[in-house]
Amino acid sequence: MISPHPDYLRIATEEAFAPKEMFDIYRKILAGPDPDPGFVSLLGFYMTSKSDRAQHIMRCLSDLDTLRLQHMDDTGIDRQIIALTSPGVQIMDTDTAVSFAKIANDELAAAVRRHPTRFSGMVAIAPQNPHEAAKEIERGVQQLGLTGVIINSHTHGEYLSDPKFWEIFEAAEANDTPIYLHPNTPPRNMIQPFLDCGLDGAIFGFGVETGLHALRIITAGVFDRFPKLQMVIGHMGEALPFWSYRLDYMHQATVKSDRYPTIRALKKKPSDYLRENFYITNSGMAWEPAIRFTQETLGAERVLYAMDYPYQYSADEVVALDGMPMSAENKKRFFQTNAEKVFKLK
Ligand code: MN
Repeated sequence: MISPHPDYLRIATEEAFAPKEMFDIYRKILAGPDPDPGFVSLLGFYMTSKSDRAQHIMRCLSDLDTLRLQHMDDTGIDRQIIALTSPGVQIMDTDTAVSFAKIANDELAAAVRRHPTRFSGMVAIAPQNPHEAAKEIERGVQQLGLTGVIINSHTHGEYLSDPKFWEIFEAAEANDTPIYLHPNTPPRNMIQPFLDCGLDGAIFGFGVETGLHALRIITAGVFDRFPKLQMVIGHMGEALPFWSYRLDYMHQATVKSDRYPTIRALKKKPSDYLRENFYITNSGMAWEPAIRFTQETLGAERVLYAMDYPYQYSADEVVALDGMPMSAENKKRFFQTNAEKVFKLK
């Protein structure tokens, strides 16, 4: 049974939605020439499968009212921080992506206005056009009242470590809003060995690809250039906290041996950036040992709760997390106050 009145609010920070019109655009992309294989594997499945899981997810994704609120009540979630589901607009051509990001943000902001105590929303952007993306961050935060920016990892195989995208980081830092780096399926030139064994999705491929992306952002020196920038990564940090020691050792060794022009000295160790520029959510990872490890290595003020609705929707997980053997102070940080701080909830 879910405890109805714990000593904290439960704020879920990586919860997905999709406007119905987005699936019309997706159908055209899937029917077009040579669609992205990860997109075919993921959306090609969810949009056509008759399985209970796929039907449930499609039904929940498009709802921003009764059904979602009922599911939140049923699992004791006080507030969702909602973001455009992966891959969002990043699979679209540039012009469609720029215009549809605005439509999706307007729709999400309207839902937040309808349910201001239950919903918060993140700004979707089209990295395909970094200048328009920067403008949309400002519009989303300053005019629509959204909080945080959702980026569903790579965009047509390109990574934010490329300085051509850094106007996006500049805008996030200037608007004092975090970037949530959410998974996508591995890009075309990476996916085949994952597809061969059915491991391209949330089971493993997501984490490998998104962990790589976050690490590329660190090693490219983004946080030396934008020291106040804050990023959020899900799924217990896509394994990066567990890698911290080896990342620090091998980064220094690689710099010293002058092996790659792309690996240069940074002001700090990779693990320092994880500790100072990242928040980690437990989305899809309702597992106390991993949560405790991340709290111990990065700090309890850096680890937040997320459910990953509707992809992972289970009351049992909430009960298990409520029951974690953890100080009352750290549990409140985990479920409530860290989210309030990073997403500036009122
Ligand atoms: Mn997710």
